[in-house]
Amino acid sequence: MALIVQKYGGTSVGNPERIKNVAARVAQYRSRGDQVVVVVSAMSGVTDHLIKLAREIMPLPNEREMDVLLATGELQTIALTAIALHALNVPAVSLTGAQAGIVTDGVHTKAKIHNITPRKVHELLNQGNVVIVAGFQGETPEGQVTTLGRGGSDLTAIALAAALKADLCQIYTDVDGVYTADPRLVPQAKKLAEISYDEMLELASLGAKVMQSRSVEFAKKFGVVFEVRSSLNDNPGTLVKEETKSMEEVVVRGVALDKNQAKITLVGVPDKPGVAARIFKALGDSTVNVDMIVQNISHGAGSPQTDISFTTEKADLLKACKVIEKLRQEIGIRDVITDEKIGKLSIVGVGMKSHTGVAGKMFSVLARDGINIGMISTSEIKISVTIDLARGEAATRAVHEAFIG
Ligand code: ADP
Ligand code: ASP
Ligand code: MG
Repeated sequence: MALIVQKYGGTSVGNPERIKNVAARVAQYRSRGDQVVVVVSAMSGVTDHLIKLAREIMPLPNEREMDVLLATGELQTIALTAIALHALNVPAVSLTGAQAGIVTDGVHTKAKIHNITPRKVHELLNQGNVVIVAGFQGETPEGQVTTLGRGGSDLTAIALAAALKADLCQIYTDVDGVYTADPRLVPQAKKLAEISYDEMLELASLGAKVMQSRSVEFAKKFGVVFEVRSSLNDNPGTLVKEETKSMEEVVVRGVALDKNQAKITLVGVPDKPGVAARIFKALGDSTVNVDMIVQNISHGAGSPQTDISFTTEKADLLKACKVIEKLRQEIGIRDVITDEKIGKLSIVGVGMKSHTGVAGKMFSVLARDGINIGMISTSEIKISVTIDLARGEAATRAVHEAFIG
């Protein structure tokens, strides 16, 4: 008998038929004698719709209230999935994140899991139930509802698998594994049999939304091996696990395009110690995630000035602008320019650690196609560039073709 955590994403529970499919799969595992904990997302489109409703009332709604609102999406699907299992005569009980013992910090809309006390989950499993847990949500020690960031049901599943010491963690989605690029964008993309945590983490944080990046970070920290697979067929999926020596033989494991980035340029910033610190501390204090940062070297006479550009998620753009606006007078920033028409294109692979010439090859492909590079950032295992959003998809295909085929 194994203890299995299965997570089903929005498309996999997108309508009553799909929910019945999920129930049938769960029932199959249970009939083998396994104990099954199911984590579900909201039905596809529901979270987006709720956000849209709130923003129609006010552009920057209170984040505590957003959590109360967004958590309702997953409550619908836990109940519907339990009902679908009952229809198959399988005993099943749904639990909210809080009821499942998921305790988080109080950073609304991006809460981090503090700890999980899955006493209730164990109790229900031991009574013979399938336990269905609402993904993406938790509760602060004070009892406030929180959510774990977009795509956060992945994190719920992986954190629960760690807390329950599950034998198996399966992430069911609408593709049958992790590919070398988004298969919707690059038809030639190849399915990977396995991928290291570090590569998956980079791909996820660089726009491959097949896994939420924080969930991969968590899996790496706690050594949770998981499989990404399809809820629509029985094809073997992709195993995400610790890096092995043979993984280094491949230079580029995958290509990712992030279309959800925005660039903010601060023009004419006084070039003196402490200014950048103040700007980025204020952004951090407002929980704006900043990714790439580029600062020009200041030239010329007079009091030295510089330009600073940085990227953030489009969803945080308005908040970031508010923070900057507050500092603008005080610091003496001449102008603020925003650009939402950027794409961030990245290549990822642990093999880059031991290979040279990778950046040159990537930049040459873009140059050949007349694509201008904006910002550049690199790490040991990735190279990212910002480019014109309109050229993003074509550039992704060209770079994939050059490195992977
Ligand atoms: P779920 O609702 O199940 O959580 P998501 O929509 O969050 O599913 O993630 C699955 C989607 O991720 C796929 O439909 C696919 O288009 C996209 N995707 C992006 N990059 C990749 C990749 N490298 N491999 C597989 N899928 C990817
Ligand atoms: N429903 C949430 C979202 O759309 C969480 C998830 O799907 O994982 O982001
Ligand atoms: Mg997802």
